[in-house]
Amino acid sequence: MPADPAGPGPHVLILGGTTEARRLAEALAAAPDSPRVTTSLAGRVAAPVLPPGETRIGGFGGADGLAAWITAHGVTHLVDATHPFAERMSFNAAGAAARSGVPLLALRRPGWSPGPGDDWHFADSLAQAAALLPALGSRAFLTTGRMGLNTFAHLTEPWFLVRSVDPPAGPVPPRLEVLLARGPFTLADERDLLARHRIDLLVTKDSGGSATAPKLAAAREAGVPVLVVRRPPVPEGVAQTPSVDGVLDWLSA
Ligand code: NAP
Repeated sequence: MPADPAGPGPHVLILGGTTEARRLAEALAAAPDSPRVTTSLAGRVAAPVLPPGETRIGGFGGADGLAAWITAHGVTHLVDATHPFAERMSFNAAGAAARSGVPLLALRRPGWSPGPGDDWHFADSLAQAAALLPALGSRAFLTTGRMGLNTFAHLTEPWFLVRSVDPPAGPVPPRLEVLLARGPFTLADERDLLARHRIDLLVTKDSGGSATAPKLAAAREAGVPVLVVRRPPVPEGVAQTPSVDGVLDWLSA
């Protein structure tokens, strides 16, 4: 997709906050005829790892705000590379694409599925996970993200371990230990963590991808059950690809 020297040229807006979004920005920056690329981050992480290209941080003000930004900045292609659980932003992207007439592609990594030796239980939401988990374990490694910790704040059982880049803000469960760390974490790291903290339940969103999958392998090895929160619905009619290459093909079509 070469930039047109006579015209404004292509401008790709990546809605980011994921490893895939950063990889896409890196791939586009390295392309011989790289287009203008802006990655948008919500601003949840205090010191994010910034991708190459332009970046902007903070909300747009809903689908209308995003549509206005797209028009004002001459965006020609919109890529929703947000996390599979960033439900509101994905619906905003669909709404903004429809309003502005700019084509949209969702970069969505496939979900996980259980294999032999896995003991998986499922919840349809964080609230349902909070209702189910006290019966499943007494020392839970809660990896559903620090933003949703308030959903578990009323639980005096089990004891929780949380690992995050920034400390949690807002209400948290009373029996909670926080480990400040930034991934990726290897299988050896996860094995060690489960053993050191005597974890008997892993709680996770079905985020998919390889970056956070070693915790699932470590749980399988240790015979630790896993409570998996299923993905929220995706906007109807939005084209999707599971890979960065799929986005590159779409952009060059
Ligand atoms: P969300 O609930 O879908 O979005 C809430 C609001 O945050 C949106 O309405 C939007 O505000 C703003 N926002 C979200 N993503 C944005 C982006 N990339 N650029 C600019 N504004 C954004 O999102 P969330 O679940 O809080 O996730 C926030 C960010 O963290 C996303 O970028 C996501 O990729 C990343 N993330 C989320 C999870 C997760 O489990 N949810 C995990 C890892 C990373 P306005 O309406 O004002 O535009």
